[in-house]
Amino acid sequence: MSKKPLFDRVALIGLGLIGSSLGHVMKREGLAGHVAGSARSAKTCATALEIGFVDSASVDPVDAVTGADLIVICTPVGVIADVAAAIAPALKPGAIVTDVGSVKMAVIRDVGPLLPEGVHLVPGHPVAGTEHSGPESGFPELFEGRYCILTPPPGADKRAVAAVSELWRRVGSDVELMDPKHHDRVLAITSHLPHLIAYSIVGTASDLEEHISREAAASKEEILTSEVIKYSAGGFRDFTRIAASDPVMWRDIFLNNREAVLEILGRFTEDLTALQRAIRWGEGDSLHDLFERTRAIRRGVIDMRQAGTFKATEQEDEAEVDSES
Ligand code: NAP
Repeated sequence: MSKKPLFDRVALIGLGLIGSSLGHVMKREGLAGHVAGSARSAKTCATALEIGFVDSASVDPVDAVTGADLIVICTPVGVIADVAAAIAPALKPGAIVTDVGSVKMAVIRDVGPLLPEGVHLVPGHPVAGTEHSGPESGFPELFEGRYCILTPPPGADKRAVAAVSELWRRVGSDVELMDPKHHDRVLAITSHLPHLIAYSIVGTASDLEEHISREAAASKEEILTSEVIKYSAGGFRDFTRIAASDPVMWRDIFLNNREAVLEILGRFTEDLTALQRAIRWGEGDSLHDLFERTRAIRRGVIDMRQAGTFKATEQEDEAEVDSES
């Protein structure tokens, strides 16, 4: 006999990597009686229906949320408040609104005041992802063994928090409750800064490549124009994977977690300058000490099962990329 679903009707607003992965796993596990989807474009709605990770789909989010017990907003952070404003009048009393945005303070600040009395807000963030986006990129195992952080505002309804926690547990995640400000600071270090560094390094390498090519042409020295790509296995390759992450999503994360990112970036640039000094003055012991410490951090990440010791499949490999985002 099949188990009773956790929710009669779930609305997924945004059907990209996260929304489609949630749809896949909710259907596989029978967690919702009906999964209603909504995306900005008719094309994404049609793809979602064709793949089958939703039971219905509409470009009008009101169609999806009408009668829904749980609404999961899976859009880029920059439009979460617009979506909340559009759906607010159609939400039924007792409905729970959650989201998957990578920034939490801005969501609570912007969405909280828009929701009607009797509708419960339980913001969330699955710390799982890949650099791929769109309705075809999702897969049901995305959240397995990853953390999902919930940041309920003070006085949040306990039953609503318990229901959202149960959903994430049933899709395979470990649930943690966290203060939203703390969340934004932690993620600024573990995810937002690494992405910024990757975007910056890949940008620098691409500028450099053009520059080297021009100089080579002038001096007739033989330098291949695509050397940066050709020898990317030297470390650059891993940065290119992170720097391929969705531009809209990441623009919104930096603009909405400005304070924490700038604070961590300040600290990082100081440390980088210290490294620059150590290289300039030949301070090998300082370099070696740091590299010993950082190697131990990698071992800690593996011990906590947040990274594989081997690359079993491409998907496994990718799931490590965005253990933020
Ligand atoms: P995605 O693959 O780019 O998908 C975004 C979805 O949102 C698309 O279906 C898009 O519709 C829809 N959308 C955009 N603007 C909309 C609007 N105004 N109204 C309704 N739908 C709209 O993004 P994602 O990677 O799933 O990320 C979604 C959220 O999850 C973001 O807030 C991100 O911070 C968070 N997150 C991402 C990751 C990750 O690794 N990707 C990890 C954890 C959390 P169309 O397809 O029609 O354009």
